Amino acid sequence: MSEVIAFLGLGHMGGPMAVNLVKAGYQVRGFDVVPAALEASTANGVPVAASAEEAAAGATVVLTMFPSGKHLLDAYRGGLLAAAQPGTLFLDCSTINVDEAREAAQLAVEAGHRAADAPVSGGVVGAEAGTLTFMVGAAAAEFETIAPLLEVMGKRAVHCGGNGAGQAAKICNNMLLGVSMIAASEAFVLGEKLGLEHQALYDVISTASGQCWAVTTNCPVPGPVPASPANRDYQPGFAGALMSKDLNLALAALESTGVSGELGALAAQIYQRFAEEGGAGRDFSGIITDIREKSEH
Ligand code: NAD
Repeated sequence: MSEVIAFLGLGHMGGPMAVNLVKAGYQVRGFDVVPAALEASTANGVPVAASAEEAAAGATVVLTMFPSGKHLLDAYRGGLLAAAQPGTLFLDCSTINVDEAREAAQLAVEAGHRAADAPVSGGVVGAEAGTLTFMVGAAAAEFETIAPLLEVMGKRAVHCGGNGAGQAAKICNNMLLGVSMIAASEAFVLGEKLGLEHQALYDVISTASGQCWAVTTNCPVPGPVPASPANRDYQPGFAGALMSKDLNLALAALESTGVSGELGALAAQIYQRFAEEGGAGRDFSGIITDIREKSEH
C-alpha cells in the first residue's frame, strides 16, 4: 500500500478504476483534461491535482487511461516524464498500437523510469465492479510491482511478455472477436433464411464445434442469452466505435508484421463502415442488423 498513484485519464474506464483504488486505501491523485471528468471524480471521492505534471510529481506509479497512443506519446513528450521522480513506474492501461506502446516504454526508460503496458478487457461494467482482465507487457519485476494494483481493479492479470506484449495480446484477441462476431451474425441470418428458429440454432452452436463467446455470451439475436445486448436493442456492451478502433490497431499490426490476415483486414473494413453508418454507439453485435438488411429478399 506504499504506492502513490497518479491516475491520468478519468473517463468512462479510468473514472471507476480510480475509485476502486481509492476504496482499497491507495493514495491516488487523479487528473483529466476535461473539467467534467475532474468534477465527477471529486464527487466520487478521488482527490484530483491541478495538472498531469502535478499529479505525477512524487508519485511512484503514473497510470494512464487515455483514448489513444497519440495522447500517451504527446503527454510523455510534453513534460510528464520529466515531472516524475526517477524510477517511477509508468503503467499504461489504454488500448493503443503495439509500436506506440513500445515507443512509449522506451521513452520512459530513457528518462530514467520503468514501464509497463496493461490494456484491459471487461468494459465499463468490469471497471466499475473491479472485474477487469489485464493483459500485461512488462519485465517480471515490474509485473510484481503492479500485480497488487491490478488485483484491486480486476479479477485477472496475465503476464504476456515484455513491453508491448499486453497490447499485442489484446489486439490478437479482439481481432478474433471481431471476426467471430461477424461470422456468428452471418450464421444466424443464414439460419433465419433457411427457416431455423434462433433458439434451435443457438442450442446447436452453443454445444457444437461453432461454439464461441460471440454466441454463448454476446449472442447477436435476442432470446437465447437474456443478458446479451441484442435483448436491449443493442445498447453497449462493447460499442462499435471501440471494436472499429481495436480492429484498426490489429490492421496496423498485420501490416507492420507482414502477416496475411485477410479476415482480420476485412473485419476492420466491415466494422469501420458499421461505426460510420450509425453503429459507433451501438453494441458491436448490432452488425447482424446490417447483415440482415444487406441480405437479398
Ligand atoms: P474516455 O474517452 O471515456 O476516457 C479517456 C479520458 O482521457 C478522457 O476523459 C480524456 O479527457 C482523458 N485524457 C486525454 N488526454 C489526457 C491527458 N493528457 N491528461 C489527462 N487526461 C487525458 O475513454 P474510455 O472509454 O475510458 O477508454 C479509455 C481507454 O480504454 C481507451 O484506450 C479504450 O480503447 C480502452 N478500453 C475501453 C473500454 C470501454 O468499454 N470503454 C474497454 C476496454 C478498453
